[in-house]
Amino acid sequence: MAPEVEIYQQNKIIPKEISKEAKIALSYYPELSKIKIEFRFKEKIRKSFMQAQPKFTNLFHGKDNRSYYVFISSKVRIEDEDFTVDDIPSDVLIGWLGHELGHIVDYRERSAFGLIFFGLRYVTSENHIINAEKMADTYAVEHGMGDYILKTKNFILNHSKLSESYKNRIKRLYLSPEEIVVLVNEFDTAK
Ligand SMILES: [Zn+2]
Repeated sequence: MAPEVEIYQQNKIIPKEISKEAKIALSYYPELSKIKIEFRFKEKIRKSFMQAQPKFTNLFHGKDNRSYYVFISSKVRIEDEDFTVDDIPSDVLIGWLGHELGHIVDYRERSAFGLIFFGLRYVTSENHIINAEKMADTYAVEHGMGDYILKTKNFILNHSKLSESYKNRIKRLYLSPEEIVVLVNEFDTAK
C-alpha cells in the first residue's frame, strides 16, 4: 500500500508521518519554495538514514526546472534492532531534514555535469564526502537551523542503540558538535 502523502507549496510531496517536521525544516529555506522536492521512504539506503539527490529524469532541464528527492530509510537495522522515524524525536528529525535541504541548496548551484561528477566523487573519495557534508551543515546553520543540527548530531553520537561503527563513520566524515557551535557563533556575530 502506498503511504499517504501531503502536497505542500504545490511542489513538495511529503509522507504524512514526517509532514510536520518537513514543513518546519522547509520554512527555513524560502528559496526552495519554488523547487520540486519529493520526500520518499525507501527500504534501505546505503550507509545512511537520509539522502538527498537530484532526479535524473530532469537533470538536464535547467537549474530552475530540476527536481530532487530526499530519501528516508524506512528502517535502519542496527544490532538486530529496527530503528524507524518513530524512534526519532521530532526536533532531531527536523535537523536531519534541514541537513538534507542544505545538500539541495548546494546542488542547485551546480551544473548537470557538475552534479554527475559530484555523485561519482561522493562514492570514490572520502575527502569529497567530508566537504559535501560540511557544506550541507554550513548551509543549514546559515539558514538559522543551528540548534536543530546540534540536536541531531548529539542524538546520533549519544544514542546507545546506534552501532559504534556508525558513530565512528559520523565522527570521521561529519562536523562535530563543537565545530557546529563555532559555525553558529560565526553566523551569529556576522548578523
Ligand atoms: Zn549529508
